[in-house]
Amino acid sequence: MPSSEKKGVKMIKVIAVNAGSSSIKYKLYEMPEEKVIASGMVERIGHEDAIFKFKGGKEDKKDILPILDHAKGVELILKALESSGVVASLKEIAVVGHRVVQGGKYFAKSAYFTEENEEKIRELIPLDPLHAPAHLLGFHAFKEALPEAKAIAVFDTAFHRTMEEEDSIFPIPEEWTEKYDCRRYGAHGTSHQYLAEKAIHDYFHDKKDTRIITCHIGSGASLAAIRDGKCVATSMGLTPLGGVMMGTRSGDIDPSVLDYISTCTGKDVHEIYEILNRESGLLGVSGGLSNDTRDIEEAMKNGNPKALRAANLFARRIADYIGQYFVRLGGVDMIIFSAGIGENSETFRELILKRCQEALHLEIDWEKNISYNRKEGLISKPSSQIQVAIIPTDEEVMIARDCYKAWEGTL
Ligand code: ADP
Repeated sequence: MPSSEKKGVKMIKVIAVNAGSSSIKYKLYEMPEEKVIASGMVERIGHEDAIFKFKGGKEDKKDILPILDHAKGVELILKALESSGVVASLKEIAVVGHRVVQGGKYFAKSAYFTEENEEKIRELIPLDPLHAPAHLLGFHAFKEALPEAKAIAVFDTAFHRTMEEEDSIFPIPEEWTEKYDCRRYGAHGTSHQYLAEKAIHDYFHDKKDTRIITCHIGSGASLAAIRDGKCVATSMGLTPLGGVMMGTRSGDIDPSVLDYISTCTGKDVHEIYEILNRESGLLGVSGGLSNDTRDIEEAMKNGNPKALRAANLFARRIADYIGQYFVRLGGVDMIIFSAGIGENSETFRELILKRCQEALHLEIDWEKNISYNRKEGLISKPSSQIQVAIIPTDEEVMIARDCYKAWEGTL
């Protein structure tokens, strides 16, 4: 039976899945309580020494074993859910929610994994060749193993579909926009939406007319300008390469760099695109030192000028977008920091905020900037007109919420 009752409320179990090319992250929830009852990750799929992590019931384990495809990974996850006693039967899992990075022009909200929708996701592969095939592998592996469960796709781009045209099209020939759908789709939408909804509820008591800038800064990074809970603008572009500087991605650059570097090096556009994706950002600017802010911070402490240069450029790019979004929103009530760097690095938050504080009259409590690391709370002083908060993101709970809606029939 997929549902049980608790104090008159129907309870179901749903699983939020994030399938990558060589990994599957998962969290099993009891809904609508939003209680995580199991979680884990399969890594290095395709290898003899793949990693299987599972936490649930009384079990908390990590195994190294051959996991040659996604189907095997899913089989192990489901076996662990049963053997740990987290579920008595796999039939208890009512809905599987799959994260899908690119929803393109088709999806403004989460959708059932129908054949027609799967075809649309497949059609969008050229816009996300890295993730989309893996999402489909994950979907099929779960479909095979749990044929009775409903399946939905939750898109990273959906939240950004409320952008107006002037925020989402590029100044390129009309044919590229219309015929090839070459426009800004953004990413991290599920995270930006979670952060905005949480802030509006917890900090603004559901008041109307809120203006929020969300900074999701992890190894991938993006900002969003959000008015009244709806996305007005976001920094990532056609793909997650655009916008601010990231761990290994350049973010926005003058497009003539492509032609010039091609002339200088003889590399073609695909090779240069790969380098802008994988060898640029913090890693590139620091001269190959690292894409990880922990290493960059360490090197900065030792006076490494390349690390300092990379960190300063990283902060400048984000501060520039904050300025841009301040104008776009006609002011701002709250700036939110989240994700790996936004939640954990007081150094990077300080570098960014110092670049905004004069223009935006920010009053930061620098002690709180340190003490609220890895926690949630306001790091601005009560006197600051613009509040600044750290809020840990939770994309999985958003997937679980949509799973519950799908089960209720209100998706
Ligand atoms: P993604 O989900 O995009 O893979 P995350 O949001 O998990 O990325 O962010 C990972 C990044 O966060 C790391 O690459 C590192 O730069 C940064 N990070 C994580 N923990 C810390 C920390 N304690 N101090 C500084 N930076 C950190």
